[in-house]
Amino acid sequence: MTPILSTKGLTAFYGDFQALFGVDVEIAPGETVALIGANGAGKSTFLRSIMGLIRVKPEMIQLDGRPVGGEPPHRIVSGGVAIVPEGRRLFAGMTVEENLRVAIDNASGRDGTWTLDRVFSLFPILKEKRREPAQRLSGGQQQMVSIGRALLNQPRLLLCDEISLGLAPRVIREIYEIMPEISEAGTAVVLVEQDVSLAKQASDRLYCMLEGRITLTGRSGEISRDQIAAAYFGGS
Ligand code: ATP
Repeated sequence: MTPILSTKGLTAFYGDFQALFGVDVEIAPGETVALIGANGAGKSTFLRSIMGLIRVKPEMIQLDGRPVGGEPPHRIVSGGVAIVPEGRRLFAGMTVEENLRVAIDNASGRDGTWTLDRVFSLFPILKEKRREPAQRLSGGQQQMVSIGRALLNQPRLLLCDEISLGLAPRVIREIYEIMPEISEAGTAVVLVEQDVSLAKQASDRLYCMLEGRITLTGRSGEISRDQIAAAYFGGS
């Protein structure tokens, strides 16, 4: 099966500073893959490269086998990729529903199964708060809006950048509980996570990154804590 996403020898730079050194990652349609690594390992840079926010060579990133590296973000989004960005980045002055409707408008013309009602059934609290300004919601509820907004782009590949960051454990559980429904809809997911055990539980496969390189990959259920520790911190 052609992977929905593959990166081949992906390198990325900020000016002269090299942040990624030949990253090879493959994700099958509908698969959930976790990307873990310490602060500064390059996880966000990896996501930014896919989204077209960093200049890379075309063949370094392939969507459905088609080279797309360096294409502008709107082309990547219309190719079926959506991101839940770190820090959520909602339109603070808009209501919950208005935030979600922006994505519906952007996705017009793209096929998909996500509707406002489906997002509300995933996160019922958002239906209750649909007329409230997004900025008045709790951090967890804002994260739900951010996920809902990404889903309404009808992605076949959803990139999640540290969605658990700063949230209470109960809220994190609530958010992660809906992940299987996203997979069942056929959407592949990349979970960038600092919380290693959460990443392991929630994914089919896992990649660990250290200083811009993949240091470990395998099925999440088969990787040991010791293997992760070595790959995460370096040394052996
Ligand atoms: P975090 O968990 O802190 O977000 P990360 O694994 O996502 O970490 P990146 O943010 O991708 O790591 O950073 C990778 C490297 O690139 C780091 O050394 C970081 O300092 C550097 N870097 C990130 N953004 C920039 C930038 N805009 N300009 C220069 N260097 C950057």
